[in-house]
Amino acid sequence: MKITSIELFQVDLPYSGGTYQLSGGRTYDSFDASIVRIAADDGTHGWGESTPFGSTYVAAHALGARAGIAELAPALLGRDPRQVDRTYDLMDATLVGHNHAKTTLDVACWDLFGKSVGLPVSELLGGSTGVPMPMISSIYAGDPEDMRHRVAEHRARGYRGHSVKIGALDSEGGPALDAERIAACLADKRPGEYFLVDANGGLVPETALRMLALLPSGLDFVLEAPCSTLRETLSLRQRCAYPIVLDELAQNDADVALAIAQDAADGIGLKVSKAGGLTPSRRQRDIARAAGLTMSVQDTVGSAIAFAAITHLGSTVPAHLLRCILNVEDMVTLETAKFEAVRVDGGVLPPPTPGLGLVVNEDVLGEPVAVWG
Ligand SMILES: [Mg+2]
Repeated sequence: MKITSIELFQVDLPYSGGTYQLSGGRTYDSFDASIVRIAADDGTHGWGESTPFGSTYVAAHALGARAGIAELAPALLGRDPRQVDRTYDLMDATLVGHNHAKTTLDVACWDLFGKSVGLPVSELLGGSTGVPMPMISSIYAGDPEDMRHRVAEHRARGYRGHSVKIGALDSEGGPALDAERIAACLADKRPGEYFLVDANGGLVPETALRMLALLPSGLDFVLEAPCSTLRETLSLRQRCAYPIVLDELAQNDADVALAIAQDAADGIGLKVSKAGGLTPSRRQRDIARAAGLTMSVQDTVGSAIAFAAITHLGSTVPAHLLRCILNVEDMVTLETAKFEAVRVDGGVLPPPTPGLGLVVNEDVLGEPVAVWG
């Protein structure tokens, strides 16, 4: 099997909830997606997507993703896409870093691999556990009662986890507002629900400790990405009773290994395009598992193509370590593909179809912005 051509598409994915607000005054209305279709000499196609969360989330942006794909794509022509690790080595030898660019090509190779052997990607990643995965909502930062209302809306739609964004600037209300947001979002918590309180690196130890001191006792949540540096996170961890989960600080294998060596966290947010695709995500899954870290399997954002990769990967995390998966498709209004995830008992499983199990809506993608091969 050989790669014969690579096409790159660009689409905008409007946020389904209006304007998304993150710590530090960051806002997002729409997301710029890069999608590739890789054709193989057996007539099959593989699809992959990378949609950065704007340019202010991690060191990734859409123009950079497409420039990186242009650097990488010519090197992949003629290669066997089923050799996912060797293909990734070649990408690393062609371009240093740029996980978000590599993601599109790597995920498309896994899709081709699955189609070539007639198996879902989850089976190639080690096999689905068969345990339906709870989905987590993404509750942007705002007025505490409005956030509580949005949690309730998602609960009514079957979400069993909630990622609550905090990180108010002093001018917005600082630690006191964040404490109010947390208390409001957890006020109606049901048994078995899982809450991530995610500051996206927007706190320093001082503001985090002030916020935590203002909370009522007995709240059950984990604190995600409180600080933007490992030093700050370690300092806070020594004085914080809540479990800490890393996200933005855990991008590469070495980040996860260092976090474990320093005992910096109890869990990680495993995001497919943050890690650079399914090949490195698979490794990070296993590194985290070996250390007993819990995982939530997500992506920065994305459409149905990204959700398919999340679902296949998530289903291979042992159930006692998997906290939730993020339905990124639900965060955007544009349907790039039909992805028929299997819904069981309020949870989700990957479909049994070969590859990612996508039927891409090619009309929505328009003409490719670049073609190789
Ligand atoms: Mg996060």
